[in-house]
Amino acid sequence: MGVFQRAHDTIEAKANRALDAAEKPDEMLDLSYEKMLDQITQVKRALVDIAASRKQLELQEQQLEHSVAHLQDQARAALAQGKEDLAKEALSRKAAAQSQIDAMEPQHQQLTEQEQRLEQTLTALQQRVNDFRTRKETLKAQYTAARAVSTVDESAAGISKTFADSGAALQRAQDKIATTQARAGAVDELLQSGVLEDVGGQTDDIRACIACNQACIGHFHAGYPISCIQRPETGREIRYGRRERAGRPRRVLIAGGGPAGMKAAAVAAERGHDVVLHEAAGRLGGQVLLAERLPGRSEFGGAVTNLERELGRTTARVVLRSQVTAQLVRQEAPDLVVVATGARPYRPELEIGGGLVIADAWDVVGGRDLPPGHVVVVDWRGDWIGLGAARMLAEQGRRVTLAVNGYAPGEQLQQYVRDANLAALSQAKVTVVPLVRPYGVDDEFVYLQHVLND
Ligand code: SF4
Repeated sequence: MGVFQRAHDTIEAKANRALDAAEKPDEMLDLSYEKMLDQITQVKRALVDIAASRKQLELQEQQLEHSVAHLQDQARAALAQGKEDLAKEALSRKAAAQSQIDAMEPQHQQLTEQEQRLEQTLTALQQRVNDFRTRKETLKAQYTAARAVSTVDESAAGISKTFADSGAALQRAQDKIATTQARAGAVDELLQSGVLEDVGGQTDDIRACIACNQACIGHFHAGYPISCIQRPETGREIRYGRRERAGRPRRVLIAGGGPAGMKAAAVAAERGHDVVLHEAAGRLGGQVLLAERLPGRSEFGGAVTNLERELGRTTARVVLRSQVTAQLVRQEAPDLVVVATGARPYRPELEIGGGLVIADAWDVVGGRDLPPGHVVVVDWRGDWIGLGAARMLAEQGRRVTLAVNGYAPGEQLQQYVRDANLAALSQAKVTVVPLVRPYGVDDEFVYLQHVLND
C-alpha cells in the first residue's frame, strides 16, 4: 500500500470516528467538509510527489541524451583517427545509454498519466467541495430554522405543562384552605363545648424577638446549635426544658437586677425557692439599658420587658435602689447569695503623659459630657461596644476615629448585624484604623501600636 493510500485511510478512519461521535447535523456537515478538504490536501501532496518524480526522470533522460550525442561524436573522431577500438567502445557505451533512455520511456509515460489522472481527480474534488460547501450552508440554515421551530414547540409544550402544574397547585391550595377552615371550625366547637381551654390570656408570655441575631442565626453561622438569648432552654429542651420543683426550698438572695439576676430570680422562684432580688439602680435591666441606647439597638431593651413579665409571674420579690452589702446579707440571712452584678469596664495599661480626657464606653453611652473635638474610640473586643459608641458619637456630629485590634470593627458580631453597622460607620464618616492597640496618651495625641508588628 502506498504512502498516499495509508495517509488517506488514516484520515478516513479518523474522520469517520468523528462523524460517528457527532450528534448534530450541522456538526456532521462541518466534519464532512473538513474530511473533503483533507482528501484534497492528500491529492495535492501526491500530485507534487509524482510531478517531482517525473521531473527527476526527465533530467536523467536529458543527461543520457547528452551522453548519447557525446559518445556519437567520440566514435566519429576515433574512426577519423583510425582508432577503431576506441570507436567501438564509444558506440557500445552510446548503445547502453540509449537503451537506458528507452527503458525510461514507459516509466515517464506512466508518471505523466498518473499526474494527469490526479489533476483530473483534484479538479473533480474541488468542484465537489465547492458544491458541498454551498449545500452545507443551505442545510445548516434549514437545520437552524428547524431547531428554532422545535424550540418554540418545546416551549409551547413547557407552557402547557406549567399551566397544568399551576392548575394542580391551585387545587392543592384549595384543599389546604378547606382543611384549615374545617380545623378552625372544629376548634371553635371544642372551645364552646369546654373541651379546650381558651389560652388567649397567655400571649404576653411569648418572647418578642429583639432582633439581636446572637443565639439563633449567630450561633448557626458560628457552627453552634441554635438557641435564643431570651430563652436559653431553646435547643436544649431535653436538658433544661422542664423545671422540677426543688426538693428542699431555700431562701435565695440575688444581687443585681440585670438580665442574669432577673433570669436567676425567675427560675429559682419557679422551682419553689424563696427569692429576693436587690437592684442598686431604680430600674431593672442592668447593662441592657445601656445597650439599648446604642444606634440601631433600641429593640434590645425588649429583653428587659420580657424578663420583667417572666419575673412578675413568680413569687420573687424585687427591691430597687438597694445595694447588697455584707450587713444586708447578715440581716437577711439567706441560704444562698447569687452575685449577678455584671461586668466592669476594662481599661488597658496606658502610659499617660498629659491631661487628655479618657472615658469608658459605659460613661459615654450613659450620657457623660465630653469636651469638644476629635474622639478616638479604642476597641479591643470587636463587638457592639466600640463600634456602637463610635457610631453614636459620629451621628452626634463628632469627628471620630475607631481603632480596633482586629481586622475590622465588629468581628465578633453576627455578619448581618456587622455589615449593617459597617455601612453606618462609613455613612457617618468614621475613620477606621485596624490591627492596633493603644499604649499611651499625652495632651494632644493617642498613641497606637500595630498588633502584628512591633
Ligand atoms: S437570639 Fe435574638 S434574634 Fe435570635 S430569636 Fe432570640 S431574640 Fe430573636
